[in-house]
Amino acid sequence: MYVHVPFCAKRCGYCSFNTAPLEDGSMVRYLEAVQREIDLLGALPWASRIRLGTIFLGGGTPSLMEAEELAAVLDRIRARFDVVADAEITVECNPESVTRAKLEGYRASGVNRLSLGVQSLDDAILPRLGRLHDARGARAAFEAARDAGCANLSIDLMYGLPGLDLDGWTRAVDRVLGWRPDHLSAYGLTLDAGSLWGAAGIDGLPAEQDQIDQYWHLARAAAAHGLEHYEISNYARPGFRSRHNQIYWHAAEYLAAGPGACGFVGRVRYSNVKATPRYCQVLADGALPVASAEELSPRQRLAERLLLGLRTADGVPTTWLETRLDGDRGLRQRIEAWRAEALLVDVADRVRLTEAGFLLSDALFVELL
Ligand code: SF4
Repeated sequence: MYVHVPFCAKRCGYCSFNTAPLEDGSMVRYLEAVQREIDLLGALPWASRIRLGTIFLGGGTPSLMEAEELAAVLDRIRARFDVVADAEITVECNPESVTRAKLEGYRASGVNRLSLGVQSLDDAILPRLGRLHDARGARAAFEAARDAGCANLSIDLMYGLPGLDLDGWTRAVDRVLGWRPDHLSAYGLTLDAGSLWGAAGIDGLPAEQDQIDQYWHLARAAAAHGLEHYEISNYARPGFRSRHNQIYWHAAEYLAAGPGACGFVGRVRYSNVKATPRYCQVLADGALPVASAEELSPRQRLAERLLLGLRTADGVPTTWLETRLDGDRGLRQRIEAWRAEALLVDVADRVRLTEAGFLLSDALFVELL
């Protein structure tokens, strides 16, 4: 189950997520609404057949929740659903909104994995992004998480940022890897519609080759520190892959709660009302806040499984790709070219992208759609 917590203290320039300002009383209204949504989901006829293997609180900034508020949400999920004993329970945290005491409270409520939004360790770049922490604050938050007993700790970084050169990126990557995180997510900056930068533009972006160099530095440095590159943007120590995100990449089912959250149940993809006040109102009126639902056709489903599966180092069964290529000679020829250039490789009965292929994957994914 994914639970979206929309509030942020400030909107970051690059962000296109569904966020809301934290105003007086808005967290209380949200908490009432999301618990009502969990009740309504739990009362659906098929809910008793669900076993939740992971819970992921994402945002927004879930770490704006006090420990008791987070515990109330998790308790409500456990009251309405069968949560497996060793479920992975992750909370996304921003460095400036955590303390050791808060994180100990999170752990006491059952949280066993934290994802810390560091993004950069450059004190000139961080405020430009709109972040509220500095490099020292990021390190302090990491140590607070370890001191609170978090043994499964992920760091988020971004490359391709305005003002970031290869030297700066190399220093940041090497420092973060020196902290020995269990998991690392590193996303290249994209100027998405819906972000402030997407609308207004931003100066100082590195050249494309610089971004490629930043990608390769990370891939090599992570490997040297024993992290496996198991998904285009994700690295993990052995045994520390994100179980929750693997559900997405395997195109498996997941429930979603919270404003704008998207779920996938049976063959149906659904998404919730985005605006937080409206979301709260719909639930106050006693209805599920579903804004749209779509049943995927077999072709859409196959394309989605290919695109998501090829994001991972495990790839997809070769038969899936063969089914997609059936009758499409042009695409088959282009796939053969990818194989010839060692961007795509066959391993036993599966096909997967190489690290060079990951870098170019967007071009392939457009073709497979
Ligand atoms: S990047 Fe994170 S903290 Fe920044 S606005 Fe988006 S959700 Fe909020």
